[in-house]
Amino acid sequence: MVESEFDVVILGSGPAGLQAAVHAARAKARTAVLGKVRSSALFKAHVENYCCLNDTVSGENILNEGRRQAEKFGAALIDEDVLHIERLEDGRFSVKLESGDTLVVRSIILAMGISRNKLNVPGEKELQGRGVSYCVDCDCNFYRNQVVTVVGSGSAAASGALRMLLVASETHLVCESLEISEKLRYQLESSGVHIHPGRKVGRIVGEGEVRAVLLDNGEEIETSGVFVELGAKGAIELVTGLGVALESESMRFVAVGKKQETNVPGLFAAGDICGPPWQIAKAVGEGCVAGLEAAACARRAATKTAQS
Ligand SMILES: Cc1cc2nc3c(=O)[nH]c(=O)nc-3n(C[C@H](O)[C@H](O)[C@H](O)COP(=O)(O)OP(=O)(O)OC[C@H]3O[C@@H](n4cnc5c(N)ncnc54)[C@H](O)[C@@H]3O)c2cc1C
Repeated sequence: MVESEFDVVILGSGPAGLQAAVHAARAKARTAVLGKVRSSALFKAHVENYCCLNDTVSGENILNEGRRQAEKFGAALIDEDVLHIERLEDGRFSVKLESGDTLVVRSIILAMGISRNKLNVPGEKELQGRGVSYCVDCDCNFYRNQVVTVVGSGSAAASGALRMLLVASETHLVCESLEISEKLRYQLESSGVHIHPGRKVGRIVGEGEVRAVLLDNGEEIETSGVFVELGAKGAIELVTGLGVALESESMRFVAVGKKQETNVPGLFAAGDICGPPWQIAKAVGEGCVAGLEAAACARRAATKTAQS
């Protein structure tokens, strides 16, 4: 096991992790950012609702700028995933990387985002970002006056379809069974959304962009956008062994206080992993707080060690 040359290690190269890195590094903490930028939810997105960026900007460009900025302030970028984290008896953490290296640190920021549940049908992967989206709130405006299809059986899908109705020319909802409250069901059924109950999507059709969805009964819906709203689970498997408290059993997101601190001393969290709304603005705000607090925490621990 090698003693880390870092004070703060950040798990995640998305907007939360990069903003945390900027603030921790500027606060003079030796900072490392782990994770792969291509795996950020933002990488394939086109953004038009982030403050001060008036034009539509590609997520890839935002992330690349963020990486350059974090490096400029002294953060080290390590393109590796973390496989395991353990808490040592002295309160520090050992962080095992995919290369086999182990870092030992006092302060960690969890910024691993969430894994959005996929349909796993032909066409989905190829057309992601080209008509296939996992976030109605993020992308609805790109489908103004177009036909869209929302897929899913829960409240996220039902409320997503109602939201789409305000901008799309026609909205379809493909659902195996509707598992929603009576009130939402009533709203949905009287809304004008075309509901396809008891149906599954078998394939997403299109070359270069979405043209249609093919249902399991052979019916084809011509559509420009497919919103997969199957709910989302937190990427928290890595930390449950550390005793990190979650929001609740059904809301499997990391619970944090106002300083983005978890219930485990030295462990902070920011961004999508802390729950909705899944938006850059929230991720960046939380990243800023987590970066400053993690740097201060590492500084306090180093002072204490030096005095003892
Ligand atoms: C298609 C799409 C469009 C979107 N459009 C918008 C929009 O227009 N406006 C908006 O505000 N938001 C939008 N969003 C949401 C936005 O992208 C997210 O809210 C934001 O990226 C969350 O940032 P994050 O840093 O928390 O997580 P992410 O950006 O998802 O980053 C997570 C990081 O953690 C890393 N990681 C995961 N596991 C590990 C591990 N074991 N070890 C190390 N690293 C790990 C990943 O590699 C990645 O770098 C969109 C999302 C999608 C999917």
